[in-house]
Amino acid sequence: MSGAPFVGVLALQGDVREHVEALETVGARSGAVRTLEEFRGCDAVVVPGGESTTMSRLALIDGWFEPLREARSAGMPMFGTCAGMIMLADQVLDARPDQETIGGLDVVVRRNAFGRQVDSFETDISVPVLGAEAFHAVFIRAPWVESVGSGVEVLAEISDGDRAGTIVAIRHGGLLATSFHPELTSDVRFHRYFVDMVRETV
Ligand code: GLN
Repeated sequence: MSGAPFVGVLALQGDVREHVEALETVGARSGAVRTLEEFRGCDAVVVPGGESTTMSRLALIDGWFEPLREARSAGMPMFGTCAGMIMLADQVLDARPDQETIGGLDVVVRRNAFGRQVDSFETDISVPVLGAEAFHAVFIRAPWVESVGSGVEVLAEISDGDRAGTIVAIRHGGLLATSFHPELTSDVRFHRYFVDMVRETV
């Protein structure tokens, strides 16, 4: 493609600005996406963290599910972080009964999975596709990935402690998702990885 791709950050609810800044840092054009018209100008979208039950309700009210699912089926790359990972998952455990998702990611995720005591925490994880240097991952009432379908690539697991081996970053075709918040650190490698994915598809 010619020029930088436009990666919108879905602004139904959640942390938008940090993603826009990280995406711009790695050479994409970016901005908050609040209307379907803005969505039509996107080559890809980030679905940010926030509260997936609220996000799902707002998406339903404003008619976002159909255009998002259509775009995803047509191959639009999407990157979901935390609540955004929940929004991209095919199956969600501990969801509100009426909670819908965009879907497409062949995984089962569990909401608020780490439990009360360790509700929010930070830890260094190894993410081989990003290089040898560990990634500092910030988890905030995070979901985890309980199981993955056959086409899903596991990019990272928790390295040590009680939760060692828990899957926290995945890729399935054009869909990328993390349980944690890469936009809350200055390490933009996940955003760069995603923008590289976008450049390969547009
Ligand atoms: N616990 C939230 C949810 O279920 C996700 C939290 C987050 O995005 N930081 O949607």
